Amino acid sequence: MLDIRVEMLRKEFGQVVAVDDLTMTFEAGTTTCLLGPSGCGKTTLMRMIAGLEVPTRGQVFFGDEDVTRLSTRQRNIGMVFQYPVVYRGSSVRENIELPLRVEKLTKAERARRVDEVMDLLEMRAAADADIETLDNGTRQKVAVARAVARQPRIILFDEPLTNVDLSSKLQLKRALKELVTRLQQTIIYVTHDQTEAMTLADRIALMQDGRIVQNAAPRELYDRPNDVFGGWFLGNPGMNFVADFVTDLDSSGVGKSPLFPKPIRLTGMQGGDRFTLGIRPEHVRVSSEPLTNGVPCTVTGSAIVVGGQYLLTVQAGDQLIKAKVPAATGRAITQKAWLELPPERITLFGADGHKPEVSLQLV
Ligand code: ATP
Repeated sequence: MLDIRVEMLRKEFGQVVAVDDLTMTFEAGTTTCLLGPSGCGKTTLMRMIAGLEVPTRGQVFFGDEDVTRLSTRQRNIGMVFQYPVVYRGSSVRENIELPLRVEKLTKAERARRVDEVMDLLEMRAAADADIETLDNGTRQKVAVARAVARQPRIILFDEPLTNVDLSSKLQLKRALKELVTRLQQTIIYVTHDQTEAMTLADRIALMQDGRIVQNAAPRELYDRPNDVFGGWFLGNPGMNFVADFVTDLDSSGVGKSPLFPKPIRLTGMQGGDRFTLGIRPEHVRVSSEPLTNGVPCTVTGSAIVVGGQYLLTVQAGDQLIKAKVPAATGRAITQKAWLELPPERITLFGADGHKPEVSLQLV
């Protein structure tokens, strides 16, 4: 198992900076999802790690070895692309075995590796099927099996589910989850789909404009984004943000806010700081009954969303807040209601959009 380290890695395409002086480590034995919107540089970063793109400057290390100048072949990596790469006119078994034939392996060893990976991906039953007869999802599974059977040092996935039919997507996603958990290899997985990243990753490296905004465990990234971008990009919908939500802040950090019934204290605050409050819709409480730490609000919108939950829009003072509530709460809600923002669910962001070392309590 090797970690992958990039140091001051940069790629320019003319005026466009696709990857911007990036330094980070992809930990050995973990699956890291590179997640971010279209054009943020995910594929370019992965291609430089794979040796398919020459960096403008900077270095790539596999463990202690500087691989920046090595060819893709010399790097010994397994890759799975958006479109399944398969050899037509061959069976599933032959497809997986083909790259092994150029390596110095006995026939028995080749067969053992192919069987092992087919078991791992539960595809023994299809071993002799003609690749042409299979759907896109199964073909992609074959491409994954082939990458794994070579026992590469690292495995790179570039949006492998994007072009798989909806019907086999879920099944392939489950198979990939099982695979990455069992393999314990260093894996980088590029996706713009947050659900995919949340399901598969040990760590998510969130990218924006050629930089990594945060590299953290999925739950931590979701619950405690260290940047407004993470709050906004993750979640459906993303976080609520309320800029300058405190008024009359004194030098001890105590102030008022129309979102809380009592004064609040901002612990760790430096004088003159301005803050934005962030809270995820599913952490907001709304009730027709008074809430101890709540304020009155008006429900201005209501929609049923995935899972039968209700997405409510409520107004408190001049603030609009989105709340995702259980179906029963949503059905029972009246127009005049109560809104509570549990302090332990709040993330504060400073004027620069980053999370400061400041916490909020009711006093
Ligand atoms: P997507 O999910 O759409 O593939 P991405 O996050 O993978 O996006 P990249 O494909 O790495 O992003 O692109 C990053 C930036 O670099 C974009 O502005 C893109 O237009 C530009 N870019 C990428 N490859 C090239 C290239 N070969 N020539 C010129 N510009 C490029």
